[in-house]
Amino acid sequence: MATGKINVSVDNIFPLIKKFLYSDYEIFLRELISNATDATLKLKHLTTIGEAKVEYGHPIIEVKADKEGKKLHIIDQGLGMTEEEVKKYINEVAFSGAEEFLNKYEDSAKDSGIIGHFGLGFYSAFMVAHKVEIITKSYKDEPAVHWSCDGSPEFVMEQATKEDRGTEIILHIAEDSTEFLEDARITGLLNKYNKFMPVPIKFGTKTETLPKPEGAKEDDPAPTKEVDNIINNPNPAWTNQPADLKAEDYKSFYRELYPMQFEEPLFNIHLNVDYPFNLTGILYFPKLTNDLAQQKDRIQLYQNQVFVTDNVEGIVPEFLTMLRGVIDSPDIPLNVSRSYLQADGAVKKISSYITRKVADKLNSLFKNNREEFEAKWNDIKIVIEYGMLSEEKFFEKADKFALYPTVDGTYLTFEELQEKIKDNQTDKDNKLVILYTSDKEAQHSYIETAKSKGYEVLLLDSPIIGHLMQKLEGSKENISFARVDADHIDKLIQKEDTQISKLSDEEKETLKSELEKVIGEKSSYTVQLEAMDSDASPFTITEPEFMRRMKEMQQTGGGGMFGMGQMPEMYNLIVNTNSALVGEILATKTAKKKERLINQSLDLAKLSKGLLKGKDLTEFIKRSYEMVK
Ligand code: ADP
Ligand code: MG
Repeated sequence: MATGKINVSVDNIFPLIKKFLYSDYEIFLRELISNATDATLKLKHLTTIGEAKVEYGHPIIEVKADKEGKKLHIIDQGLGMTEEEVKKYINEVAFSGAEEFLNKYEDSAKDSGIIGHFGLGFYSAFMVAHKVEIITKSYKDEPAVHWSCDGSPEFVMEQATKEDRGTEIILHIAEDSTEFLEDARITGLLNKYNKFMPVPIKFGTKTETLPKPEGAKEDDPAPTKEVDNIINNPNPAWTNQPADLKAEDYKSFYRELYPMQFEEPLFNIHLNVDYPFNLTGILYFPKLTNDLAQQKDRIQLYQNQVFVTDNVEGIVPEFLTMLRGVIDSPDIPLNVSRSYLQADGAVKKISSYITRKVADKLNSLFKNNREEFEAKWNDIKIVIEYGMLSEEKFFEKADKFALYPTVDGTYLTFEELQEKIKDNQTDKDNKLVILYTSDKEAQHSYIETAKSKGYEVLLLDSPIIGHLMQKLEGSKENISFARVDADHIDKLIQKEDTQISKLSDEEKETLKSELEKVIGEKSSYTVQLEAMDSDASPFTITEPEFMRRMKEMQQTGGGGMFGMGQMPEMYNLIVNTNSALVGEILATKTAKKKERLINQSLDLAKLSKGLLKGKDLTEFIKRSYEMVK
C-alpha cells in the first residue's frame, strides 16, 4: 500500500473546485463518462493498430446508482490504468492523458474520436463526492490498482483484486448532492450530455416485450425479458456520410433531437468538412413564425459527440440561430468568453462556412425544385431576409433566389420582378416604383385601385421587411418601394403632370378652408387637393411611406430614426378636385348639408383604411341610415 500527496501547489484544491464550479455541478458526469469513452476508444485504437493484443469485443459503459450506500458507479471496459499510469494521470492534477495519447499516435489517432478535456476532467467528481475511489485494471498484464481519496490532497493507493479489464469510478456522494443518486436526475443528465456519445451507455434495465411464440393462444400474455437500458444512440445521423442517409433518416433524427416537436422540418443541410477545420452536423429549417425571439437557441453544439451547449452565439451566424439541429466540432475553443470566441480565426471560418453552405443549399433548392421552394418560401423567408440584412456575403447570394410574392400568388425574384414591371411602373423621373401591401384585407381598396392601373402589387408582410426594402433601395439603382396606401396611386407612380383641374384657384381655396373647418375640428389629417381622374375616389386617406416605414423599422430594432417611435401616426387626406362629389360639396349652399357631405365622405375614406372606429363609427352608421331614408 502506498500513500502520497496529490501533486498540487495549494493545500487543498477541493474546496476550490466546489466553489468555482458551483453553478455547473452536474457536468461531473459528463466528464467521467467522457473519460470512460476515451478509455474505450483508446483501447479500440490500440487493438486496431495491433499494439494491444486483446479482444476488443463489445464494450459498454455502465452507470449504477446505489441509493442506500450513497454511491454512484461509472464502470468502463476500456484500457484501464497501471499503477504507474494512475500516479501519472491522476496524481498529477491537470496532466491530460488524452492529450498525450493524441500526440503519441498523432497520425493514426486523428479520427479516433477521443474527447480529452473540456474542463476540470476527473477532479470534477469532487464537486459532488466527499470521497472518490478508482479501481482499475490495465489491458497490460499488471495487477489492478485501488486508489482512493477523501477530498484532501492525501490519497491512498494499493493493489486490488479486479479481474476484468477496465476502470470503475466510485463516487461517495456528498450530503448536499444526493440529488445525483435519483434515477430521474441521472437519466436527465445522461439524456442531455451523453445522448449521442459513441460508446453504448447502460443505466439500469428495461422490460422488453418479445414476439409471441408460434401456436400461442389469443390471450396468452406476450413473453417479456429484462434487457440493458442503453440511453444513447452511438451512431447519430450527423456522424454518417450524407450519401448513406435517406430523407427519412434525417427526419427521424430530427424527432430524436426534438421529441416534443410535432412539426416536420422543411429541409436539412448536412455539414461536413475536415479542412481547414473539423466540423460535422445537420441543420434543419423548421417552420418559422413571425415571433423571432422565441425560436432561438435550438441548435446543439457537440464536441466529439458530447453535448456542450445550446448557445451557439458567435459560432453560428446570428441569422441562422433560428435554425435547429446539431454542430459537432472539436475545433471550437470552449472555455473562453464569447467575445474571444468571435475573434477566434477558426470560429470565424466556421461561421462563414455555415453561411455559405446554407446559401448553396437554398440556391440548389431554388434551381432544382422551384415549385417546392416557392411552397416553402413563407416559412423560411424570415431567415433569408434576416440573413440578407446581416451578412453581405449572404445578401449577394440570396439576391438571386429571394422571392417577392405578388398578391395574386406569383413568386418572382427581384430580377424577374424588375423585368415584369419596368414598362408600366417606371415614373417620370425614371425611378422604378415597386408597390406592395402588408395586409391584403386591410388595404384591399388600395390594392384594387393599383391593379386597375395594371400595376403589380407585392405582398410583403414579414416583420423585418422594412429594413430589407431600405437595404434594397440603397444597393440597387433607381428603385423605391411604396405601400399602396402611401399616397394616391397617381402620385405613387407619377407619369406626367397632365391632369387639368376643373376648379379655379379661388374655388380651390374656398374648398380647402371649408374642408379644414369641418375636418380640422376632429382630426389631424393634412388636406391635400389633387386634380385626378373624375372617376377616381373623391376622398382617400394615405400614410406617407417614409415616416411609416421608419416607425415600423424602429419597432423591430435598429435602422429607424431616433425618437420615431413616439411620433404620432401621420395621415394625409387626398381630395380629388375633379370628382363630381367634390364639385357638389363646393356648390352646396346650406352649411348643414355641406358639413354632412364632408363628414360622410371622410368617414368612407376612413372606412376603407380601417380607421373608422368608436364614436365616429356610430355616428357614421346613424348618418348613413338617415341618408338612405
Ligand atoms: P483528460 O480527459 O483531458 O485527459 P482528465 O482529468 O479527465 O483529463 O483525466 C486525466 C487522465 O486520467 C486521462 O487522460 C486518462 O489518462 C486517465 N483516466 C481518467 N479516467 C480514466 C478511465 N476511466 N480509464 C482510463 N484512464 C482514465
Ligand atoms: Mg477527461
